[in-house]
Amino acid sequence: MSKYEVIVIGGGPGGLTAGLYTSRAGLKTLLIERGIIGGQIVNAQQVENYPGFPDGISGFELTSLMHKQATKYGLETITANVTGLKSGQVFTVLTTNGDFEAEAIIIAAGSEYQKLGISGEERFLGRGISYCATCDGAFFRDRDVAVIGGGDTAITDALELSQHATNVYVIHRRDQLRAGQVLQQKAFAQPKLQFIWDTIVEDITGDEFVRGLRLRNVKTDEVSPLPVAGVFIAVGLQPNSQCFADIVNLNKTGQIITNESMATSTPGIFAIGDIRKNSARQVSTAVGDGATAAISAFKYLKE
Ligand code: NAP
Repeated sequence: MSKYEVIVIGGGPGGLTAGLYTSRAGLKTLLIERGIIGGQIVNAQQVENYPGFPDGISGFELTSLMHKQATKYGLETITANVTGLKSGQVFTVLTTNGDFEAEAIIIAAGSEYQKLGISGEERFLGRGISYCATCDGAFFRDRDVAVIGGGDTAITDALELSQHATNVYVIHRRDQLRAGQVLQQKAFAQPKLQFIWDTIVEDITGDEFVRGLRLRNVKTDEVSPLPVAGVFIAVGLQPNSQCFADIVNLNKTGQIITNESMATSTPGIFAIGDIRKNSARQVSTAVGDGATAAISAFKYLKE
């Protein structure tokens, strides 16, 4: 079995930064990623709030540069799905591509899109339902689409969709957005965006493809149809922490509990980025977490 000093689970900005720091500190490090290196931010056309890029940079380019930099200092990367983590004299990471041992683990497995759990959501996935405006927005050129949610993701998606669609309906369950002020200002200034407040989606209707939504106003209880060809669901994220539940403490929503050194309840296991409790869920904060965890792992191994 291949043995490492550090294994980083997850190849988003946090994991890549942790891998850069541990490799550069001379620790033999393996990064395991199940999909594309870069994590969720690879879907972002333009990252405008990561310092050092005044004109913005695509998520793909930013994380490709991070990977290149970490690899330069010796970080090894493999593609595999992590299925379990065991502790003994060392830690064993079980994956779909073999098992690997390490003396310290940095969990950076991020989160995935929260499902709404309503009728039609699964049936129409890829047939009008999407969780990624950057990936699928262009399919809806000159059509009407809806975005469900009121957070940063929903508003970023809605603005992006306004480049393609005729009308973008933002359906939010309250009458105030959760998204940050800058995004809100941009959204209210974009005439293609139409806000439907205090409203939930009860049903997604269609034939082979999505044709519309059944909406319910939560204040008046009024039900109304909304014809749309596309629906972008942006109602938050769910941490990918299921396979670590037996080895580190999680909170009620499944986030891994860490201290300010990114240490979990198990000595030698650290957690960073979107998967941990109290993450600000920004690229810049994930990067900070990654550096902190790497420094903590280094101290743990040396002590
Ligand atoms: P979020 O901040 O948790 O917002 C989720 C939104 O979905 C909220 O408006 C919430 O409504 C709504 N929602 C949740 N469950 C719902 C349900 N069952 N039915 C209807 N609506 C529901 O999630 P996010 O927007 O994906 O953002 C996640 C994190 O990434 C945040 O920390 C965000 O700041 C960050 N992010 C940042 C940027 C950026 O900086 N540009 C871009 C994207 C994401 P309520 O408001 O009523 O709770």
